[in-house]
Amino acid sequence: MLELNQMEKRTNLAGLTLDELACFMQQAGQPSYRARQVFSGLHERRLQSFAEMTDLPKAFRERLSETATASTLTVESRYLSEDGTRRYLMKTHDNLPVETVFIPEERRDTICFSSQSGCPLQCTFCLTAQLGLLRSLTAGEIVEQIIIVLNDVYGGGEKPPHGTNLVGMGAGEPFLNFESLMKALEIMSDPHGLFIVPHRVTVSTAGIVPRIRELATIATRPHLAISLAAPTDELRNELMPINKKWPLEDLLAACKEFEQTLKPGELFTFEYVMLDGVNDSDEHARQLANLLNRHALRAKVNLIPHNPADPLPYLPSPSYRVEQFKSILESKGVRAFIRRPRGRDIFAACGQLAARRETNNIQSIPQSIAT
Ligand code: SF4
Repeated sequence: MLELNQMEKRTNLAGLTLDELACFMQQAGQPSYRARQVFSGLHERRLQSFAEMTDLPKAFRERLSETATASTLTVESRYLSEDGTRRYLMKTHDNLPVETVFIPEERRDTICFSSQSGCPLQCTFCLTAQLGLLRSLTAGEIVEQIIIVLNDVYGGGEKPPHGTNLVGMGAGEPFLNFESLMKALEIMSDPHGLFIVPHRVTVSTAGIVPRIRELATIATRPHLAISLAAPTDELRNELMPINKKWPLEDLLAACKEFEQTLKPGELFTFEYVMLDGVNDSDEHARQLANLLNRHALRAKVNLIPHNPADPLPYLPSPSYRVEQFKSILESKGVRAFIRRPRGRDIFAACGQLAARRETNNIQSIPQSIAT
């Protein structure tokens, strides 16, 4: 308990912008260049302790450790999929689960981060929903996930060979933790740090309408994806109860406003999880195409075969259904893509994050990084 209280009192410097860090250093009576040194240590060199920042005087590092911390998350387990995907189960200082997924890709690797521990929304096809909301993550905890994964995959402080894409599609509803999310993205976009710019980031929402509108007002916003899962209110109310608060017409009206801010070539992404016999009929495909066409949105639809996991009551749509669904959308002028599930065998795929520790058929990666 003592450790927890001590941790809570210390400032997590990984969650401060460069300007905030400058204020922190000023208050600590330090010269202004210290802020840049520490920011670079945390985000450019991806150091996770002050002890490693040997360009700082030893006495200062020791003093810093009394009031601040460089990292708060610890890696509890890591799992490696047959397809190279890695799932990390981390713990916050107050012992809550945080999951992050690394997805290797030919052109550019992707890290899928969590914005909350658990999730308050109750999408019936998602295992995370069963945890409920444990708490929202701080900006520092969001940034740390990326630092930990980059260090693990590429080596401490090593530059990723192809750059990195981020997707806010892990546990939690990012728009219910909007402030911390946006702050984390600001910190990560800093050219003196990780330098992952907003157009490399996609944030997915279940449809928190006021935040879609708010995001549209932010010049340095990330891309937006919306999890749709159903073409009618009746079905969406069942699969994604948040729809009762913001039904489809409200959601798509907000998307229409957001569309004004799309850059040339940029499209909305609608994620459509495909559940066998539930939302994958020809009629559903026609309804979905009509819905999107009625709003004339510049959009594409990603079809995601459901990732089964006990005790979820759904099965993935068979591939011929997914193909048929796609061709109906395309025949009505809607761009559609089929997303290949990644990391299904390690419960790292969409909707499967639920802090699982033990599963069959997984290869746990030996711990090798210091956290
Ligand atoms: S799909 Fe996303 S928003 Fe819905 S319960 Fe799961 S984590 Fe939460």
